Amino acid sequence: MANNNSNFNSSLSVGGTNTAAATSNNRAADANANMATAASMSMNSTGNSKKVLLAGEGGEDELEDYETYVIVDIGANLTNKKFSRDLDSVVSRAQDAGVSKIMVSGTNIHSSKEALRLTRLYPGVLYSTAGVHPHEAKSWEDDTMEELRSLLQNQEVVAVGECGLDFNRNFSPQDVQVQAFEKQVELACSLKKPLVIHERDAHTEVMAVLEKYAGRLPATVIHCFTGDTATAKAYLSVGCYIGITGYVWKDKSSDGVRQILERGVLPLDRLLVETDAPFMYPNTRASKLPQHVKQALTERSLAFLQRYCTFQRNEPCSLPVTIEMIAAYMNKKPEQVALQTTFNAFKVFGLSS
Ligand SMILES: [Zn+2]
Repeated sequence: MANNNSNFNSSLSVGGTNTAAATSNNRAADANANMATAASMSMNSTGNSKKVLLAGEGGEDELEDYETYVIVDIGANLTNKKFSRDLDSVVSRAQDAGVSKIMVSGTNIHSSKEALRLTRLYPGVLYSTAGVHPHEAKSWEDDTMEELRSLLQNQEVVAVGECGLDFNRNFSPQDVQVQAFEKQVELACSLKKPLVIHERDAHTEVMAVLEKYAGRLPATVIHCFTGDTATAKAYLSVGCYIGITGYVWKDKSSDGVRQILERGVLPLDRLLVETDAPFMYPNTRASKLPQHVKQALTERSLAFLQRYCTFQRNEPCSLPVTIEMIAAYMNKKPEQVALQTTFNAFKVFGLSS
């Protein structure tokens, strides 16, 4: 297991470039070992030895083609009742598509327990998070902290989350959300487990909490990012990783996820990918999706999307399509995006191979 105990580099200086990973050599070494495994998994699938060079490690980005990607879905809501009848098929399709590991999101105590239960059914494939989503903050009780702490003792439970602030829908009062969020940040700091943060219309408030815990924070992921350039830059400046979903097809704003990818705001070594299944179906047929992005989608990836995923139920097997869309916007090879994001996921969450 890679460790998860790297802190952000000292204070939250704007424009700082040190990442959580850069502050710990051991951690980087573990991650490199894991990445070698991920790469060899990929090689095994093609039977060829291929050269892998990753961004952020010096030198030119160079990568040969692989038949199948090796991808980690860092957020899928597999405890959702939409998956209760055929989870076996969902997981095996994901693996066929190259999604070798999936993190099942916890959103309250009940679903966090359920997510842990699922990891036991698919050891080495499913991992989980334990947390109280901002929507559920009002359900926080006296024993919630202890419940989370005990869930997080399990090595399959690789992060605290989803936690955070959602001032868009306000399903829980804002002050209650802030309290629940801070408690979970505190917990992540003390357990040295990574944080998966959900944020909507609450960037300033989330930053304030991160600032408060500066120097103690574990690796932190802003999941399902849908903000603008300034927001992305602010999170990156404090060492956060950014999770991108199939939402990228939908963004048509003049300063949103697309532009962030196109303008190179988000470096590959801070990018993670996730489906947020059953939500965030990537609609590759959308008329507003640029032609060059549509053309970048492979038949193989589209086959998984079109055969198994719908607006009503997205699945982890759609992740290759999202990787290809992201790669097209970033003007990178999809294989490179797949390998680098897998590397990042292994490093951040200490996934074992
Ligand atoms: Zn979320």
